[in-house]
Amino acid sequence: MLIVGGGAVGCVLSMELARRGIEYRCIDRMPGPGRESRAIALHARTIELMDLVDKDLSRQLLNRDLWCRGYVMHFHRDGERTEVRPGLDYTVVDSRYNCILSHNQSETEGFVRDYTSARFGGRIEYNATFQDLTQDGGGITARVTHADRGDEEELIRCQYLVAADGISSRVRRGLGLSVKGKDYTGSFFQNLDIHLNGFTDWRDHFHYCVGTDHFLMVAPLPGGHFRLLLSDRGEAADPNLTPQQAFMRLLERHYDGITMGDVVWHSRWETWVRLADTFREGNVLLAGDSAHVHSTTGGQGMNCCMQDAFNLGWKLALVLKGYARPELLDTYEAERRPVAEQVIWAASSLHDIFMTHGKDIAQRKQTMFEPGYTEKVVNYCSGVSYTYRDVIQKPAGLSDFDGPAIGDRAPDVDFEGGGTLFDRLRHQYFTLLAMPGGSNGASPGEALEKRFGPVVKAEILPSSEALSKRYGASDGRVFLVRPDGYIAFKAKAAEVGHLETYLNAWLKL
Ligand SMILES: Cc1cc2nc3c(=O)[nH]c(=O)nc-3n(C[C@H](O)[C@H](O)[C@H](O)COP(=O)(O)OP(=O)(O)OC[C@H]3O[C@@H](n4cnc5c(N)ncnc54)[C@H](O)[C@@H]3O)c2cc1C
Repeated sequence: MLIVGGGAVGCVLSMELARRGIEYRCIDRMPGPGRESRAIALHARTIELMDLVDKDLSRQLLNRDLWCRGYVMHFHRDGERTEVRPGLDYTVVDSRYNCILSHNQSETEGFVRDYTSARFGGRIEYNATFQDLTQDGGGITARVTHADRGDEEELIRCQYLVAADGISSRVRRGLGLSVKGKDYTGSFFQNLDIHLNGFTDWRDHFHYCVGTDHFLMVAPLPGGHFRLLLSDRGEAADPNLTPQQAFMRLLERHYDGITMGDVVWHSRWETWVRLADTFREGNVLLAGDSAHVHSTTGGQGMNCCMQDAFNLGWKLALVLKGYARPELLDTYEAERRPVAEQVIWAASSLHDIFMTHGKDIAQRKQTMFEPGYTEKVVNYCSGVSYTYRDVIQKPAGLSDFDGPAIGDRAPDVDFEGGGTLFDRLRHQYFTLLAMPGGSNGASPGEALEKRFGPVVKAEILPSSEALSKRYGASDGRVFLVRPDGYIAFKAKAAEVGHLETYLNAWLKL
């Protein structure tokens, strides 16, 4: 198993394989881990997924981060400033992590990388550049060069290869896989991570500052400095300006009394929309930016990429261990492509509101405050409303009942007697959750646990009001939760027999 690219996807996929005992190699052409802040927004679903791996991992992120409640919008029109607070409210997100965590991507990746290497010994191999590959009936041969060994060539033989090599993916281009998309006309951006003096409104929110001809974001970062992001247009794009001067011009439109301190990082880039026509070619799978890119507005990029890796990791592990049929891997694109399309919709929709320069502000504000719009966008960006409901086929003959649907994420619950539902899910594979109220207190999952041994763990949940609220009546009903925390199957106690047929369709045990 070879992962090309040790960025957001590479780090998470390595962890997902390593913790399931899969032998893999993850290579990256850089001489070492990236040190740049890049993605600074960590959203609810990504934190939930880290939490499902290990509480220590999510706790580490939470301890380090700035917990922001959402976005404040600042509008500037004909010299007049107005504010909407909160403009995008993340406290409404249905998760215990109802926030945006502000955190540098390099540190987020670092936590995952260090966790993987400390617990399982997995390491990313740097200075190793993927060149090309050939596929044959037996697998893949990848040609890699090692910059720290005089560009020595190595042929790596593997059964599967994941292209986690980012936006300009050499793997994707080498295979001749096409992408479709559109350009956000003239959308160039500049980032400036910098210390600010006199910016007092930093603790709880990201700030989006919008004028007819400009966009500026101000967000707090751990370490006491700020991320400024501007849409590189109009007066800000004057080539004679230093980055500080360009940013200062826009800051002064929205705030008084702020001065700039030390610069931490500056970068300039262009943004556009791209979606690969397929996420799979033979035994090569595309994940993250190699498969989809979009506007940075809403901060979903890294989150969506990491969630690709969470979706793919357990499937690859089951197939490589010989526990599941290879067809399981077809569900990766079937599930993640529609999510990528929704991510693109949310990012593009926000992009158009904030960066359709020249269009009247009042008109743009109006789109934003159409009924239900902000809730929809917030739930998309946070990742909690992405569901595989329309993709996972519900087995015939099962009755329908309340609680999360097949394909939805399994929401966490705090049991009144202590502990959480996520505590029961924290292991490598499927969990069969039996609601209380089954006959004689016996677990309907015991036989299945025996039958599908290493892959299914059964749990009888304690009686709990909070549980009934989320999962419905205490009548012995069962929910099969996938290793990535989504509901694979649910049935009434009397219908548990269907589950064996369902599992047999995917598993080879
Ligand atoms: C300035 C900026 C701000 C952003 N802000 C946000 C945000 O707030 N929230 C958010 O969610 N997202 C944000 N994003 C997007 C986010 O950073 C990306 O979506 C995410 O990093 C993509 O992850 P990835 O693993 O697919 O690719 P990458 O993280 O780009 O990793 C690809 C890796 O592959 C390696 N590689 C490339 N080619 C080869 C090769 N031939 N051989 C070996 N290795 C190779 C590269 O060195 C790199 O390490 C931002 C991006 C930028 C640039």
